[in-house]
Amino acid sequence: MAELRKNPLTNDWIMIASHRQDRPQMPKDYCPFCPDSGKVPSDYDVYKYDNDFPALSTAPPQPDNVSTDFFETAPSYGKCEVVLYSPKHTITMPELPTAHIRKLVDLWAERFDALREDEKIKYVFIFENRGELVGVTMPHPHGQIYAYPFVPKKLELEIDNARQYLSDNKKCMFCEMLGQESAFKKRVIFKNRHFTVFLPFFSEYPYGVYIMSNSHKSNITEFNDDERTELAETLRTTSGMLDSLFDMKFPYMMCMYNEPVNGEEASEYFHFHIAFYPPMRSANKIKFNASSETGAWAHCNPTCPEDTAAELRMAYNNFLNK
Ligand SMILES: [Zn+2]
Ligand SMILES: [Zn+2]
Repeated sequence: MAELRKNPLTNDWIMIASHRQDRPQMPKDYCPFCPDSGKVPSDYDVYKYDNDFPALSTAPPQPDNVSTDFFETAPSYGKCEVVLYSPKHTITMPELPTAHIRKLVDLWAERFDALREDEKIKYVFIFENRGELVGVTMPHPHGQIYAYPFVPKKLELEIDNARQYLSDNKKCMFCEMLGQESAFKKRVIFKNRHFTVFLPFFSEYPYGVYIMSNSHKSNITEFNDDERTELAETLRTTSGMLDSLFDMKFPYMMCMYNEPVNGEEASEYFHFHIAFYPPMRSANKIKFNASSETGAWAHCNPTCPEDTAAELRMAYNNFLNK
């Protein structure tokens, strides 16, 4: 079964995808993303692969006959793609040369552009779950793209706030935030010509760094050649910094935020950024999203962002000096 169900309490859509339970058990050493698997080309650098058991598809089944005049269902229209970062099974982002990550940036931009062509798609979400701690069973380096037929709630909230901020203050809320962080300095980890990496004032996670473009760009396709290469380099050093922090492959959720598509024109107030959400508070302590975070959406960060930003700066220097 695959369908969308509306939660009337939050006015948000839930993707029901029970067919994903039917995913076959893979033989122990088989990796579908490795070049000799028969599932992907025998020779590739980076590669877009359509998810075999997608939660959203361009030919969704009819929703089950369970809706009422109160409970709403909708077809699970959309697209779920897997993006393979490298043919090498165990390599990680910080180990890839910048020129290789640049190919990934180009592929992301190409996919964003292709998916927004479909007018039924309202938000293209590019992300990566990394590490067993966040549920990844396949070590082969990869990320995903979900093209939703709606704007997810958290994004809707940010877009609403950004629209309001522009209307009240005649400037982009994200540009203002970046200006404030740059002026305060203590939460900035590093900055290059086109991007700033910082731990935001309100960070929900001890090491939840943001990458934000220094100039106002609302989606990844707007970056020129030079900016794309620097985004690749920034991703390499940011992920390397996180790995250096406790000398371990740092688990994280990496979420790329681009403007919504095929709806309101948000380019004036939506500003490209990437947020990392690493569920670690120290080398062996996990920061769970527990009752307050999950049930009330009230986050508790057990660390002081100015202190953890200083730790991150040290980890960044350690990574560069390696
Ligand atoms: Zn593999
Ligand atoms: Zn801006």
